[in-house]
Amino acid sequence: CFCKLKGSIDDCSCSVDTVDYFNNVKIYPRLQSLLVRDYFRFYKVNLKQECPFWSDDSKCAMRYCHVQPCQDEDIPEGLKGDVLRNFHFNESPIDKYKPEAQFSDCLYSAKDHNRELGYLNTTISLEKYKDFELWQQYDDAQDNFCVKESSPGEYVNLLLNPERYTGYKGPSAHRIWRSIYMENCFRPENSPHNFIQSSKINGMCLEKRVFYRVISGLHASINIHLCAKYLTSSKDTLGIVPGGGQWGPNLKEFRRRFSPEETGGEGPNWLKNLYFIYLLELRALEKAAPYLEREEYYTGNKVQDADTRVAINDVLNVVRSFPEHFNESVMFTGGAEAQLLKEEFKQHFRNISRIMDCVGCDKCKLWGKLQIHGLGTALKILFSGKFDRWEPTLIHFSRKKFYLERSEIVALINAFGRLSESIFELDKFRQMMR
Ligand code: FAD
Repeated sequence: CFCKLKGSIDDCSCSVDTVDYFNNVKIYPRLQSLLVRDYFRFYKVNLKQECPFWSDDSKCAMRYCHVQPCQDEDIPEGLKGDVLRNFHFNESPIDKYKPEAQFSDCLYSAKDHNRELGYLNTTISLEKYKDFELWQQYDDAQDNFCVKESSPGEYVNLLLNPERYTGYKGPSAHRIWRSIYMENCFRPENSPHNFIQSSKINGMCLEKRVFYRVISGLHASINIHLCAKYLTSSKDTLGIVPGGGQWGPNLKEFRRRFSPEETGGEGPNWLKNLYFIYLLELRALEKAAPYLEREEYYTGNKVQDADTRVAINDVLNVVRSFPEHFNESVMFTGGAEAQLLKEEFKQHFRNISRIMDCVGCDKCKLWGKLQIHGLGTALKILFSGKFDRWEPTLIHFSRKKFYLERSEIVALINAFGRLSESIFELDKFRQMMR
């Protein structure tokens, strides 16, 4: 079977078999039970942001492209107040959800700054605090690999809108992928082809290879999902699938997209890139584990929140047990030139996050945005330098303090969940081929 990949994963020291066993036996089942929890299934996203690059000419009218919005009563109480920043579980007895008790409404969005404020409010005025806040936002924005949305958007229940086949294809989908690969990926020299050939990748430096591999791996993951949850019958004969239709694996479609015969030999390389992006995000989770295990995971339901903390700590312990993590410390080393390359890497990635607003199918846009947001968060964890020596005691008062917003954590874990499911589904295709 062409999808029985062999050997080690390029630019990593570990083998496909190691990842398969680790993912399918240890991580995947745990993630599945984590991602159904309230904290992780509600994601706030703006699907109405205008495409900044070309006029949005291709709205997908297929019913399967539609995103079911959330009713207000479905959203957990604790998420309604727009918690911009998370706070840490065992840090502070202060009730961070009552900022209005101390400050005017204009500071309502700065909820979890209370601790800082408690420290600062004896010495600075409200005006100065606003300056501090702006300064902090500016500093944080420098670390981001994704552009911030101009307005926060609306909550979507991810479980009601699963990533699967939608029918989005043709010129609109191709324009997105082409613009990502041809204009926003680093390209090998003298690469005349419409899409980048894997054999040319090794001629580029490590950082540029990594960029290409994560994008190609994400593309492979999206396409595996649509093959694994393909519309096999448009009639909902059992009456159990919301929106009608029955969904299941389509081996022919999978073969068309990944077999060497159908893809000029590229398919298996794209599948290997899926393992690459998996390892990169896995390492980001390991690096951020000391931070993530101190989060509150607040939704307003004490019992559920406690369960969520237990479940995420279980996942993080398994993540830590992985023997051969990706080594990001060899990237962007070597002075000013490396810093320039890093900046370029960031700019390219930010552009890709903007391109997501041009996707012509809302369901694809939702998952595309979430996965780019999650990947951007992973890159921020790996390359901002703020997690290199992160300790819980350092987060207060320091102007260099680092935090992840709730939406970043939700995107990070869900994006990793998508990759984990793709590797799991790949194994099912392998068994079907046998
Ligand atoms: P495409 O997947 O469109 O690929 C275009 C070209 O890219 C290929 O011809 C090949 O040369 C190259 N290529 C393909 N795969 C890789 C790879 N892994 N690495 C490097 N190069 C590659 N469709 C759905 O049904 N459901 C979804 O949820 C969904 N989400 C999407 C999200 C985004 C952000 C985008 C841009 C598209 C999404 N699509 C989705 C559409 C889907 O990805 C395909 O574009 C569509 O099915 C058409 O497929 P295709 O065979 O023409 O090749």
